[in-house]
Amino acid sequence: LNNFPYHSALVLGLAKSGSAAAKALLQNGIYVRVNDMKANKEDEVVQELIKMGAEAVVGSHPLEVLNGMDLLVKNPGIPYDNPIVKEAMKRNIPIITEIELAYRLTESPIVGITGSNGKTTTTTLISDILNEDGQGVKVAGNIGIVATEIAQNLQENETLVLELSSFQLQGIIDFRPKIAVLLNIFEAHLDYHKTLENYIMSKCNIFSNQKETDYLVYNADDPILEREVKNAKAILVPFSVSKKVENGAYVEGNTVYFKGEKIMDRDKIVLVGEHNLENVLAAIAAAKLQGVDNSSIQQVLTTFTGVKHRLQFVTNMNGRQFYNDSKATNVLATQKALSSFEKPVILLAGGLDRGNEFNELEPYLNHVKAMVLFGETKEKLKALGQKLEIPSINIVENVEEAVEKAYQVSDEGDVILLSPACASWDQYRTFEERGDMFVQAVHRLM
Ligand code: ADP
Repeated sequence: LNNFPYHSALVLGLAKSGSAAAKALLQNGIYVRVNDMKANKEDEVVQELIKMGAEAVVGSHPLEVLNGMDLLVKNPGIPYDNPIVKEAMKRNIPIITEIELAYRLTESPIVGITGSNGKTTTTTLISDILNEDGQGVKVAGNIGIVATEIAQNLQENETLVLELSSFQLQGIIDFRPKIAVLLNIFEAHLDYHKTLENYIMSKCNIFSNQKETDYLVYNADDPILEREVKNAKAILVPFSVSKKVENGAYVEGNTVYFKGEKIMDRDKIVLVGEHNLENVLAAIAAAKLQGVDNSSIQQVLTTFTGVKHRLQFVTNMNGRQFYNDSKATNVLATQKALSSFEKPVILLAGGLDRGNEFNELEPYLNHVKAMVLFGETKEKLKALGQKLEIPSINIVENVEEAVEKAYQVSDEGDVILLSPACASWDQYRTFEERGDMFVQAVHRLM
C-alpha cells in the first residue's frame, strides 16, 4: 500500500468487494475489523478473514465498531445516512470505498471511466482496443470485477481499466487516473446522492486529483460537463458527435477523426445508435492517448457487436438483422434503441407491469412495421400499436414464440429487435435470462 498512513480499518459490508478489501488490508499489516449485519460467524468468508487475523462483528451494527479505527472502508452501496457512516463523519474518520485501496495498491497507469450511461460499453471497448494493440491490460471495477483483487496482482506494464460508479467515486481521497473518461451526466441515483449537485460532484471526483500531465476525456455535447471540466487541471480531450473538436475525437461526414487525423470510416463501425457513437469516440480518444495504432481501433470497432443484451447485434439471417436489447427495461432505453435504426423494425416488447403507460414511445414508432408482444404489459402495448395503426400486431406467450412470429412477419431488410421497455421479472429471472432465450431462439431459426 503506497502512501497509506492508517494502522486500523473498519470494513463495513462484506459483499465481494468488502472481503477483498479486508484481505488486502490484512496482507498489508493493517488491523482489520469487519462488520456486516447479514453475515454469520460461520460463513466461509468470515471464517477465512478471522483466520487471517480480522476481528469480526456480525449480525448487528453497534456504533462501537468504530472505536479505535483510523479508517472506514465502506461498500459503495451503503448510503451516507447509515448510522455508522454518520458517526464516522462525526468522529472525523476518513471514509473510502475499495477503489481508493485499489489505487494505493498499484503503480500501474489507470484509465477510469464514468458517466450516467455507457460505462460498461466504453470500458469494454477501451480494454479490447488496448488488448488488440498488444498492451497488457486488466479490466475491473463496477463492471463486476473487484478492483482491489486485480490491482494487487497487476504485472509490470499492465494498464488498469476501471469502470467507476458515482457511489464508488464518492469514496475516494487520492485516487488519480492517468486518463479519466467522463461520458455524460443525467439525473440519476438521487435517492442515494440526495441532490443533483452532490451526484455531479461524485462523478467529477474522477478528475479532482488529476495533475497537469494527466488527461480528461469528456463529452463536449454535455452542458453539465462543459461547465464542470473548467475546474480540471488535466489536459482536456473533448469528444463530440455534433461538432468538430480540434483537439479531440469527432465525426465529419463518414469519417471519424482524432485530433485531425483520420481514424476510420464511420459506416464500418458495427455498433449502432448515436449513444454508442459517443462511447466509441470516447474509447478512441482514450486509446489514442495510450498510443495505440489505428489498425487496432479498426479491428475492434469493425467486429465488436456490443456488450451482451445492450443493443447487441446477434446475427444476420436471410437479410434480417437481429438485435438483443434485453437490458432495455424502461421506455427511455427502448426509445434509444428504436432511434438507432432507419430500416423497418419489428419490435419485440413487453414484460413486468409497473403501472406505467407507454405513450412516450409514440414518436419513436414511425418505422415499426410490426409489434410482437408478450408479458404482463402486452395489452397496453397493443393498444398503443392500434392507436398508431401499426400494420401487424401480434400477441404471443413468451420471447421464444416472439422470435418465431417476428420471423414469419418479416421481410428481407428488416431489423428484428428485442427491446422490451419493461423489466423481465413477470416471466424471466433476469434480463440476461430473457436475452439469452432470445438469442437461443434466433439460433434455432437457422
Ligand atoms: P452503464 O454501464 O453505464 O449502465 P451500458 O454501457 O451498460 O451503460 O449501457 C446501458 C444502456 O445505457 C444502453 O443499453 C443504452 O440504452 C444506454 N446508453 C449506453 N451508452 C449511452 C450513452 N453514451 N448515452 C446515453 N445512453 C447510453
